[in-house]
Amino acid sequence: VTDPSDDPECIFCAIARHRTPARIIGETERTVDFLDISPLTPGHALVIPKAHTVDLLSCPEADLAAVAMAAQRLAGVMLPALGADGVNLLHSTGAAAWQTVWHFHVHVLPRYHDDGLPLPFRRVPGDPAELNRQAERLRAARGGPNRKL
Ligand code: AMP
Ligand code: ZN
Repeated sequence: VTDPSDDPECIFCAIARHRTPARIIGETERTVDFLDISPLTPGHALVIPKAHTVDLLSCPEADLAAVAMAAQRLAGVMLPALGADGVNLLHSTGAAAWQTVWHFHVHVLPRYHDDGLPLPFRRVPGDPAELNRQAERLRAARGGPNRKL
């Protein structure tokens, strides 16, 4: 019997189905959360949908909602349980955005005042005319009122 939501080549599919070891923290019907093997800070975790999907754009809505809720739940646990001072939710779609594993995941990254993680960018105020152009392009591409919400 083959499970169409399982990509046999995918490491996160293997974790979600307990075929490969991982430090699983918790599961729901649709999601699994587990420790990142190369933590950026102590307690760095990932939340994935059990069903294989590549990224944010391919993820079906019900799984996306389930991942968002699981990430919120885990984030809420980190502050008291780990003594974290804050949490980053990080996600990468595409190599240009630093994606390296091609099964949708959200990083739940506990932050500590003294964790020393550097901000990976410098903030520079945009040119107003250029900002107007980008806003106009995106408005036109997005279309009218909210599609679903
Ligand atoms: P990204 O670069 O956003 O695609 O994130 C992929 C993340 O998965 C990285 O932070 C890796 O450290 C992590 N990772 C890769 N393989 C494993 C694994 N077998 N178990 C746990 N985390 C993993
Ligand atoms: Zn997968």
